[in-house]
Amino acid sequence: MSTTKRIDYIFTPPAPHMVGDGFKVHNYIPGRTGGFERMDPFLMLDYNAPWEVGPRNKPLGVGVHPHRGFETVTIAYQGKVAHHDSAGNSGVIGEGEVQWMTAASGILHKEYHESEFSKKGGTFQMVQLWVNLPAAKKMSPPKYQGITRDQIKRKKLADNKGEIEIIAGEYDGLKGPAYTFSPVALMNANLKKGGKAAFSFPANYNTAIVVISGELMVNGQKALANQFVLMANDGTDFEIEASVDSIALVMSGEPLHEAIAAHGPFVMNTRQQLIEAFNDFNAGKFGHLAD
Ligand code: MN
Repeated sequence: MSTTKRIDYIFTPPAPHMVGDGFKVHNYIPGRTGGFERMDPFLMLDYNAPWEVGPRNKPLGVGVHPHRGFETVTIAYQGKVAHHDSAGNSGVIGEGEVQWMTAASGILHKEYHESEFSKKGGTFQMVQLWVNLPAAKKMSPPKYQGITRDQIKRKKLADNKGEIEIIAGEYDGLKGPAYTFSPVALMNANLKKGGKAAFSFPANYNTAIVVISGELMVNGQKALANQFVLMANDGTDFEIEASVDSIALVMSGEPLHEAIAAHGPFVMNTRQQLIEAFNDFNAGKFGHLAD
């Protein structure tokens, strides 16, 4: 049965903070959602709203650091990010592209503004989302998916009023390219003024929208650029309508309902597993990556 999914809250962005010197982010999950459980399996969402970065010779970013137990997903809206990890993967993600990195049993990586972008300077706008892994998959081998523009599935909307870019999950019979370990939908609604898109996700899936640019009506309620719309768990369907040309990131996932033990870059199920993560990291078991 389809029923209207209500809005739980619309949050305005909290003050930004720096991640390394290259990411100026507003944290919505877990800061605004009051913990890891509310948007399970999404553990964290940092939004780097449009930021003018001046030209520089040494790219800004975050130096070598570990992750274990989850996935980091970086979506580039403006600017470019370069990535290198200890599993030997590297790549550049540019506008409209996505990097889906499965840290799983553990990697070291570094994330910087891409060097040519950095030399010229420009507008930088990104989302980084952390997706939890099911307990049974936390120690599986690391994996890297660089998702380019041509791999993203696109559903054109009626009257040429925009399109849905499907990164993961399914929209209107089109399936996004990202491999996920549990049911996760991630898509950008790229809407022209007056464009409308309908979505449907199971009531128990945790669902939210980030207004990347423009202004939307979500089930008739106004949401402004940079706001985060947290949907309730009591219905299935909602509609967004663009009041001006807009981009909205829509995410929905089936909750894992597993214990979370998190510290810094490690997200496990028990405190003992966290201690093992620190021990393994200190013992050099995450591999090696040059600065
Ligand atoms: Mn990282």
